[in-house]
Amino acid sequence: MIVLMESTATEGQIADVVEWLTSLGCRLHRLDAERVTLGTTGGIVDARALEALAGVAAALDDAASPPHVTIEGTRSPAPASSATAGEPGSELDEIDSESPARGFAVGDHWIGGGELFVIAGPCSVEDPDVMEAIAAGVAGAGAVALRAGAYKPRSSPYSFQGAGEEALVILRRAADAHGLLAVSEVMDATQIPIAARTCDILQVGARNMYNTPLLRELGRARRPVLLKRGLAATIDEWLHAAEYVVASGNPRVILCERGIRTFETATRYTLDLNAIPVVRGRSRLPIVVDPSHGTGHRDYVGAMALASVAAGADGLMVEAHVDPDRALSDGRQTIAIEALVGVIERSLTVRRALRPDRTR
Ligand code: PEP
Ligand code: MN
Repeated sequence: MIVLMESTATEGQIADVVEWLTSLGCRLHRLDAERVTLGTTGGIVDARALEALAGVAAALDDAASPPHVTIEGTRSPAPASSATAGEPGSELDEIDSESPARGFAVGDHWIGGGELFVIAGPCSVEDPDVMEAIAAGVAGAGAVALRAGAYKPRSSPYSFQGAGEEALVILRRAADAHGLLAVSEVMDATQIPIAARTCDILQVGARNMYNTPLLRELGRARRPVLLKRGLAATIDEWLHAAEYVVASGNPRVILCERGIRTFETATRYTLDLNAIPVVRGRSRLPIVVDPSHGTGHRDYVGAMALASVAAGADGLMVEAHVDPDRALSDGRQTIAIEALVGVIERSLTVRRALRPDRTR
């Protein structure tokens, strides 16, 4: 709910609204500096009852521009008022709408700035010796993070479902041995504590983008979240999913375009490169592209990686393996380490050519 106060609202009226919303279990966010616009998360509030309170101009159930994650949403939704309303109180989390920076730090790296943030590794966590060899290859190719799934969302319950906790430990060891960050997917909230202890970035898979209890729980995690776009989600729905995480307390969300379902059957999904400029225009959150799931075919991964970088992606997520044909899952779309070396090299060339101020 977005609550827009009248420009003439008094401090007392604002305090009454804040108190009422807090008593209903809402967490409040002050969304702008000029005019008092409050966002609420949690709690059940009747918009019409809220609008009946003195000093309230409007209560909007659905914010077209989620205020924590979009540039336009952090601006006042109405023309700036001449009168400045009073300070609504310490219950409010202020949004730093002044900050123009894109992206944020993850370990020693910055995602969303000059560095091309490449995440690579197998679809699923493999045996320790295979993971070690893959990690060596991934680091040698110039990636900054090792990915591999321990909990796998598979279309069939009879397919390999991932090796769980034990796999997370294997992933962590392989990443540490080569100075890489570790990225892995969580499918439900019970997996967050162990994943947060063993990984640097927690992935939300495409099938879970709408899982709002999981998104809220990740808002309380102290790890960045890599949020994949749902198979049939609009960019707007995807940004709203990110809003759940950020509004719940975790500002570090990385958006990952991974292809959407269309009528096309020549590729597994249709990689929506439009999403890159759209997201960059609307949000300061970094965006990476996964050309592996986006195409479903290893022969197309390189071309779509380059296209993504040319279109302004902040990074890539690529499925790579020392022996793709023996991968535990998604082998068809997994590239060999030698191919990864070429993809990263050429991606850096594209990035340098198009953004000469960026060297990596
Ligand atoms: C994955 O990254 O291995 C994965 C399952 O991706 P997605 O959720 O995009 O299908
Ligand atoms: Mn996969």
